[in-house]
Amino acid sequence: MSSGVRVRFAPSPTGFFHIGSARTALFNWLYARHAGGTFILRIEDTDHERDSDEFLQVIFNGLRWLGLNWDEGPEVGGPYGPYFQSKRDDVYREHLEILRKNGRAYDKEGAVFFKISDEPQVIRDAIHGDVVRKEEKDFVIFRSNGTPVFHFVNVVDDITMKITHVIRGEDHLSNTSKHTELFRAFGAPEPIFAHIPLILKSQGSGKMSKRDSGALIEDYAKQHFVADAVRNYLCLLGWSPKHDREILPIDEIIALFDICNVNKNNARFGEKKMSHMNAEYLRALPFDDFYGRATQALKDSNVNFLANGEAYAMDVLRICQEKVCSLSEIPEFVKYFFTADFEYNRRDIEKLGKKCDMHARLGEFVDELSSVSTFNEESLERYVQSLCERHGTTSGEYIHSLRLALSGCSVGPGLYAMLRVFGREEVLRRIGRFLNGM
Ligand code: GLU
Repeated sequence: MSSGVRVRFAPSPTGFFHIGSARTALFNWLYARHAGGTFILRIEDTDHERDSDEFLQVIFNGLRWLGLNWDEGPEVGGPYGPYFQSKRDDVYREHLEILRKNGRAYDKEGAVFFKISDEPQVIRDAIHGDVVRKEEKDFVIFRSNGTPVFHFVNVVDDITMKITHVIRGEDHLSNTSKHTELFRAFGAPEPIFAHIPLILKSQGSGKMSKRDSGALIEDYAKQHFVADAVRNYLCLLGWSPKHDREILPIDEIIALFDICNVNKNNARFGEKKMSHMNAEYLRALPFDDFYGRATQALKDSNVNFLANGEAYAMDVLRICQEKVCSLSEIPEFVKYFFTADFEYNRRDIEKLGKKCDMHARLGEFVDELSSVSTFNEESLERYVQSLCERHGTTSGEYIHSLRLALSGCSVGPGLYAMLRVFGREEVLRRIGRFLNGM
């Protein structure tokens, strides 16, 4: 059953869907879900010169990607289409008539002006407390070209859509006295306002802008971030669960979230923290889910991951899941598993060559490998241990030499798991290639 709470996200399709808008949408959605209320999507597309369909699609895709589903609307498309201000002209005309009738609207220089009350406006803000502002001048509500202005349509919609809480960016706080003037002129109850603090860029005091790295939601999708991780991170930009766990399932966040707990201070964006959170989510995914995402990233980079069959691809990705920090690094991370013709990192080889005799260690490893009857992690580890005892060496010398011979580089999944996945024959082949090539 729905409670009386009704909130809306009201983007203008005049620019890309950036992290600030996404967080505003998210906080509205969280509050609606927390309160068992209704979350409305309203497209504020009255600025015909700047609105574009491309931006509209970017907003829809971003909201869907983040899982911020909206609840009602008159249009078709998706479970509910959103409201479009461009289709509500008659509602605005009717409301203009109301203001004309009660003497609060008048024509001047071809435009329609709203007559202010001259009263100080007390704005009830759940985050900032009571804010008092006074409007100094009458303002335009319909331009001379006949189109209604933002302040007017925004308030008329909040009234007609029975919005109870206006949750939006702090940059709108300075507009709010115009809005409360309008609410009062219509004799309509005012919503509770919640102006969310800005997001600052990772360094300095500037506001995060759309040009800053990490600012656009579509980039996260393109870079194969886990959407739940991005959403979890955005929850923490201005809100915190008041305990030390930051990685939280969304249901838990919904239960804890409240607009009066939103921080008054500006939040600072941290790209590193976002990536760290993404890595945690990635490692925690059920393997099937991880496999689907990882293979998509491989397809996008044209890695022929099915060359040795699907079971092999699954084995490879299974041993890599806990080692990677992002899906975009997957192609580079696993490439050598799918081609015999991989390159060696010369610097790593030189470095290791100074510490140990790689040729000797690899030779020793190959010599008695036939004594290992079951080619799995445990017996391979025992075998390397026995080589160390016999030759007075350390297991690190075998492990590092083998890793370089098998993969060409010094980072990757656990060595014994890697040996098992390659299998005896391929291991011998790769060591042979390495020893011949050196
Ligand atoms: N269209 C406005 C914006 O994009 C909405 C402001 C509001 O939420 O009231 O910022």
